[in-house]
Amino acid sequence: MVITMENIIYEIAERENLVEIPEKLIFGRTFTDHVFEMDYDEALGGWHSPTIKKRTKLELSPAAMVLHYGQSIFEGLKAYKHNDGRIALFRPEKNIERLNNSAERMCIPKVDPKLVLDAMLELVKLEQNWIPTLPGHALYIRPVVFATDPFLGVKPASNFKLVILLSPVGPYYPEGFKPVPILATDQYVRAVRKGVGDCKTAGNYAASLAAQREAIKQGYTQVLWLDAIHLKFLEEVGTMNIFVKFKNEIATPNLTGSILPGVTRLSVLQILRDWGMNVNERMIGIDEIVTRYENGSLEEMFGTGTAAVISCVGRLKYKDKILKMCEDVGGDFSKKLYDEITGIQYGRIEDRYNWLTYID
Ligand SMILES: *Cc1c(COP(=O)(O)O)cnc(C)c1O
Repeated sequence: MVITMENIIYEIAERENLVEIPEKLIFGRTFTDHVFEMDYDEALGGWHSPTIKKRTKLELSPAAMVLHYGQSIFEGLKAYKHNDGRIALFRPEKNIERLNNSAERMCIPKVDPKLVLDAMLELVKLEQNWIPTLPGHALYIRPVVFATDPFLGVKPASNFKLVILLSPVGPYYPEGFKPVPILATDQYVRAVRKGVGDCKTAGNYAASLAAQREAIKQGYTQVLWLDAIHLKFLEEVGTMNIFVKFKNEIATPNLTGSILPGVTRLSVLQILRDWGMNVNERMIGIDEIVTRYENGSLEEMFGTGTAAVISCVGRLKYKDKILKMCEDVGGDFSKKLYDEITGIQYGRIEDRYNWLTYID
């Protein structure tokens, strides 16, 4: 059976009181009243029972395969409330396409992109009073798919659940656009080519925690990941893609398979090219960063991702060298880019690329 939004089951819990959004929103702590859920059962012919229902606890067997073998993928995007009251999602079709790419690699059944987009729009519409309107605020949308079969054995599961969860969020850096100190590590790697680094799959994030903990211990916020083979080429920064602004060029690592193809990265590339800049997707050695910092031709480095949008590298530590970047001065270019992309997201700047999907 082909399922569409016509088949959707609504179990709406009417609220007695008005929605009250906490004043200080910590990223990822507050959730709205409802979720979208859908189950996959191979024996029943695939995805079934798409439901919008009250958010409660999940019922899951302690033998659920996801808990043991990590067969799980997710996405992250945002809905923005504009000044005219309209609500827009930023490039949701890109996230759904990436969800299906992750699904393919992780032996998880794909979803119907149209159904999942409709489900997101429908859920956001229902929960629109949860969208904060303060500057830099938005509604974060988190789809997740995981294996539910109660079975102890390593094989692709036959039963899955998809949940779409909504979370009102404030700006990632409450103090505003803030440079972050970064530690380049060659003690840990995030992902290897032909592995799963280009998928948003749970294990990648579990594997990154020890390096993150080490960085924090040394007074840094995030890790700059280097490639797993040479321990030399830039890959990503924390859970963001990385860009480097040299005097006559902007470069970002090319997608080699171990790098997550960010939607923000893609959007930034498009904007930079339209600004007529010399943009290259290429290998960037950490040695090149050090050399060009020392000869004065490195201007800025910044991370890109849905959560923080653009995040300027304040200071970078690599071995015994500390490179001071937009911590003291500068960050002007990153800020300009931040203003451009958030301008489009919040409807302050014309959506010239048709990146926004509105809720009707
Ligand atoms: C999600 C993510 C990004 C950023 O992707 P966006 O689509 O721009 O949010 C970058 N790197 C990693 C490892 C990620 O998980």
